[in-house]
Amino acid sequence: MSLKHSLQRHQKMTKPESKQPLMDPIKAARSIIEQLDIRSPSEIEVEAIAANRKAYVREDVIFGAEAKLSRVGNKAFITVSSTTTSLGRKRFSIGHELGHFELHKNSPVAYCTAADLDDWHSQKRKETEANQFSAELLMPEPLFRPRCLATPGLALLKSLSDDFKTSMTATAIQYIRFTLEPCALVFCCDGKIRWIKKNRDFTYYLKGLGEPVDGYSYAYDAFAGRLTSCDEGSVPASAWLKNRKFDSDAEIKESTQFIPSCNATLSLLWVNEEI
Ligand SMILES: [Zn+2]
Repeated sequence: MSLKHSLQRHQKMTKPESKQPLMDPIKAARSIIEQLDIRSPSEIEVEAIAANRKAYVREDVIFGAEAKLSRVGNKAFITVSSTTTSLGRKRFSIGHELGHFELHKNSPVAYCTAADLDDWHSQKRKETEANQFSAELLMPEPLFRPRCLATPGLALLKSLSDDFKTSMTATAIQYIRFTLEPCALVFCCDGKIRWIKKNRDFTYYLKGLGEPVDGYSYAYDAFAGRLTSCDEGSVPASAWLKNRKFDSDAEIKESTQFIPSCNATLSLLWVNEEI
């Protein structure tokens, strides 16, 4: 049989990727945590976990990406950019690449940009899945959920981020999954809303993507240079919510952290009294 015919037959026998059964990223990560009997955040040594799965981590210069995976047979090399200085970001990148290794077995190589590692809103299915895998690996629900019962705010997120050695953004996204409070996260870049995530109990309509931050929000102060690290307090509900007639004095809570490296803000919003 010619090579051409052999390839054609192989293509017919190989199911299109979209029709292959999908592995649940959260269950896949949870299974690893359970197999290794990990019982505390300090035991989540992500490089050792990756090595246990036969994915070996190294740092190097990568052009045009922040992390990559190179699969060799049933093993892989995970490369993290040597320009990544944040421990939380580095750990998340390793978890993300391990996610590609475990979930996307048909992909021999993955080059992942900063945008891929921040893709929490399903622009690319594989990237979102790798992020979900990484979040669950680094912040497993059985260990993370019980710590989400304290009062919302950046102080709590900071404490969780320190304990689990994860970035504030990844921590905040996992937090709103498990908190019992109605919470939303709004990420703004260059003064405009870039993405929004909210939990099921947050039933209010937020302003839309691309809209400018409201002048009565802490996020606005951050972009105006009046907030250097983080701040929190009550703001008018209309600063973030739309299409509702609120009482004139209706307020919601906002905690905002400024991220100078990308001229962005991460705001945690929650409602602690009826508006
Ligand atoms: Zn990726």
